[in-house]
Amino acid sequence: MEKREQLYEGKAKKVFRTDDPELLIVSYKDDATAFNGQKKGQIADKGVVNNIMSNIIFGILADAGVPTHLVKQLSDRETLVKKVTILPLEVIIRNVAAGSFSKRYGVDEGSLLAKTVLEFSYKNDELGDPLINDDHILALGLATERQLAQVRAYAFKVNEVMKEFFLTRGLKLIDFKIEFGLCDGEIILADEISPDTCRLWDVKTNEKMDKDRFRRDLGNVEETYRAVLDRVRA
Ligand code: ADP
Ligand code: UDP
Repeated sequence: MEKREQLYEGKAKKVFRTDDPELLIVSYKDDATAFNGQKKGQIADKGVVNNIMSNIIFGILADAGVPTHLVKQLSDRETLVKKVTILPLEVIIRNVAAGSFSKRYGVDEGSLLAKTVLEFSYKNDELGDPLINDDHILALGLATERQLAQVRAYAFKVNEVMKEFFLTRGLKLIDFKIEFGLCDGEIILADEISPDTCRLWDVKTNEKMDKDRFRRDLGNVEETYRAVLDRVRA
């Protein structure tokens, strides 16, 4: 597989064309951003952790019947993926109150929720990724009714599979963000699943083992990313 020109550089990854028009190479960087790009930094080897961890999780999800963009890991930082047209939606699942949910609705972090919450943000940096509902999505033509139903079903399935998997690794899955894309007219899981995109708390101590260590200057950021990968690989 030949790597061709860079198509895109995002906050956490670079995306390259290949000699196959249906395949891309994603390259994971160590750059970290938070609060819509206002806080910037570097987390040594984050790119390696996120690449390897994403690929392990995507493999588990594929086995559980969730189609993903993963084709093949090429190196510590690079992975070959199916090119998709990303739906401009951040699909967020919450098992426990935290982050913007706690802030918005005035509930303590760690509060149990009476029901698992699925929420959507409109993926649009200029607008600050605003919260959006199903009617908004249909009204703006961001997805069809069928696509939306498939996205919801896959998102809950991803949650069930990941919750169980992380528990076996001593981690509570508090919340996470995923992205879907269209490939040959079908919805598939794309982007990444990593400590950048999930909140993971140690089962015994409730210690935060995710990007909140960077966002909130909690220290031991690199060590924690590495520890999460070690647990995922165990
Ligand atoms: P951001 O764009 O938010 O800064 P990244 O740095 O992670 O995020 O950039 C990766 C970009 O590639 C994201 O916009 C993501 O939606 C997109 N992407 C992820 N997987 C695929 C894929 N399989 N095909 C096309 N685009 C993808
Ligand atoms: N998240 C993400 N990218 C975003 C926004 C959120 O990966 O652009 C993840 C975040 O890591 C957390 C979950 O989605 O696991 C819910 O995030 P929340 O809405 O609480 O936002 P935040 O606290 O990051 O502002």
